[in-house]
Amino acid sequence: MLLLIPGPVTTCPEVKAALAHDFAPWDRDFAPLYAGVRERLLRIGGGIPGEHTCLPLQGSGHVVVEAAIRSLVPPGGRLLVPETGRYADSMIRLANEAGRIAVPLPISPLASVQPDAVARALDADPSLGHVGLVQSETGTGVIHDVQGVGAVVRARGRRMIVDAVSAFGAVPLNLADQPEVDAAVFTPNKCLEAFPGIAFVLARIDRLEANAGKAGSWVLDLHDNHAMSARSGAGRPRFTPPAQIVNALNTALDFHDAEGGRVARLARYAENTRIFHQGMIGLGLTPYLTAANQGPIIAVTHAPPDPRWNLQSFVDGLKRRGFVISNFFNTPVPTFRVGCIGAIGPDDMRRAVNAIAETLHELGIEERKAVHDESGS
Ligand SMILES: *Cc1c(COP(=O)(O)O)cnc(C)c1O
Repeated sequence: MLLLIPGPVTTCPEVKAALAHDFAPWDRDFAPLYAGVRERLLRIGGGIPGEHTCLPLQGSGHVVVEAAIRSLVPPGGRLLVPETGRYADSMIRLANEAGRIAVPLPISPLASVQPDAVARALDADPSLGHVGLVQSETGTGVIHDVQGVGAVVRARGRRMIVDAVSAFGAVPLNLADQPEVDAAVFTPNKCLEAFPGIAFVLARIDRLEANAGKAGSWVLDLHDNHAMSARSGAGRPRFTPPAQIVNALNTALDFHDAEGGRVARLARYAENTRIFHQGMIGLGLTPYLTAANQGPIIAVTHAPPDPRWNLQSFVDGLKRRGFVISNFFNTPVPTFRVGCIGAIGPDDMRRAVNAIAETLHELGIEERKAVHDESGS
């Protein structure tokens, strides 16, 4: 069975096997592993040792998004959030519930945010201290321009927080070039091809220090997390870490290296997505995004307008053929979403396209072409 969801993804057998090794999290054997994973992740994100730090936090992606906001945006601080889709909505809610003020920036969900639009919003409102940007909007499949938006943020002396959860390890990110980025957050269970259970923040140490004591939460306080490492070493967790999950991530990072790092991984995912996108067009279906706006992580396709369409029946039919896809969608109109990431390759995507053709046939779906207006809705 292959997981064709945008995380947790299909993992390779060696990564699964790494879960079988038991560790005592405060034992001397575990400390170098924990410290080593942090160092490897800092390197993948282009962080500068001594200027940036990699902070682990138990939990899922939402946990690190909230931790970054609490630890780097002061209480009452204002955060401009381009409305990219489902995960921008999460960032807005997390910020507001933490007593920070999210200011949504309406944009088309079908294309990458224009840096000019962010520049105009920042110029119009000097009280906006931060921009919060989702790099890979998993709700739609669009990749947003962290480098272009970062440049306008930097030029105006503002700060930035990047949700890189479904991008990190594949989509370009180089913190050394982007001093305006206070933090980038991610999890192991997407492009790093490991398991959920721990999440990470790459953060600027000077910004953590400048905002120390303002998180309003001990657990989510990244400065406290950093201070613990500074006192006791990078191998010492603050609270019990999922040690087996960290070990599996370390193995997954070996595979990331062996494949050729971020660039090679992106190339494989881009090819997976291209094959799938073309495959949907070949079946007479309508991709949610144009090929030019289609990112390399997740492909969203309009549900066929046939009255026999039923997402759960479709999901069940694909599962009988060896593929698990999401049984929900995050778009305003009915779609289905297929992840193109994980330990899968182009042949798997071709087989998935065939399985979709068979399943549509089984459901008796003949009318396939979604008619929609230019906004895609
Ligand atoms: C997966 C994901 C998250 C985190 O979701 P969790 O369910 O909390 O792990 C956040 N942002 C983006 C863009 C994601 O794809």
